[in-house]
Amino acid sequence: MVELSFGSLTFKVTQGDITKFPAEAIVNAANKYLEHGGGVAYAIAKAAIGNVREYIKISKEAMREQIGRDWIEHGEVVVTPALKMEQHGIKYVIHTVGPYCGGKWDENKKDKLRKAILGALRKAGELKAESIAFPAISAGIYGCPFEEVVKTFIEVVNEFSKEAKSLKEVYLVLYSKKDYERAKDIFGAEK
Ligand code: ADP
Repeated sequence: MVELSFGSLTFKVTQGDITKFPAEAIVNAANKYLEHGGGVAYAIAKAAIGNVREYIKISKEAMREQIGRDWIEHGEVVVTPALKMEQHGIKYVIHTVGPYCGGKWDENKKDKLRKAILGALRKAGELKAESIAFPAISAGIYGCPFEEVVKTFIEVVNEFSKEAKSLKEVYLVLYSKKDYERAKDIFGAEK
């Protein structure tokens, strides 16, 4: 595990399956309707309750209650319970939506990703969580360049560290060994 320290906050990069990662809050790279159709969203829904449709229903109800709409904007987040993932010490799932890139990257996409990450960090703070784990939001089906995603994470976690209270540990949990190795190099270059 490679880590960066920003004040009282540590940002660590690790390899694994986020649905089993023992952080108080895990983040879902959701779509704006919380449909959980594929990628990490599907894996989280499956791990939480088995029946993915049921978790979509729970998520949409939570979105109605918490946001008052049937979709979320970049920066808006919805919280659902971890259900079966509680066996790993996970309490909350924070759903956030990153940008769609399709291989392209610009300031606008970066700003949307920044909002998505910051929204989840702030919500974890509100929930008084001490630890939060993120997947590589938008670096999968949404096709944003992995290196830019990781760099944006580092910048936003650094920015957030100035307002962090309860939160002590932020994790970037990468599914593939290849992504983990690439992220380690990017973290290493920040030191
Ligand atoms: P997006 O649509 O935001 O790109 P994806 O779910 O397609 O979201 O991918 C985001 C990242 O999550 C990808 O790097 C993918 O490899 C990773 N991923 C998929 N399943 C898991 C998992 N169980 N744990 C952690 N990361 C995962």
